[in-house]
Amino acid sequence: MPDQSRRREVSASDLEQLYSERRARDEWRLKRMLCYAENTTCRTAQILRYFEEEVSRPCCHCDGCEGRGASDLGKLPPTVGLGLF
Ligand SMILES: [Zn+2]
Repeated sequence: MPDQSRRREVSASDLEQLYSERRARDEWRLKRMLCYAENTTCRTAQILRYFEEEVSRPCCHCDGCEGRGASDLGKLPPTVGLGLF
């Protein structure tokens, strides 16, 4: 017979709250991933900004950098890339 003493009673209300929070978090993550995927700026710069690191220039190696001059990074608003992940 399984040990029932460690089991915690969880109400339907608790589960509803838990799954509601999880759903909201998952939707937020999905939106951030879509933003990253659809953004045409430097991928490396986006990731560095996400981790709040200094971005001095584009990497010039990613798909976002193809077909664009290196000076374009300076034209990007500072919030581009922060809405990721
Ligand atoms: Zn790049």
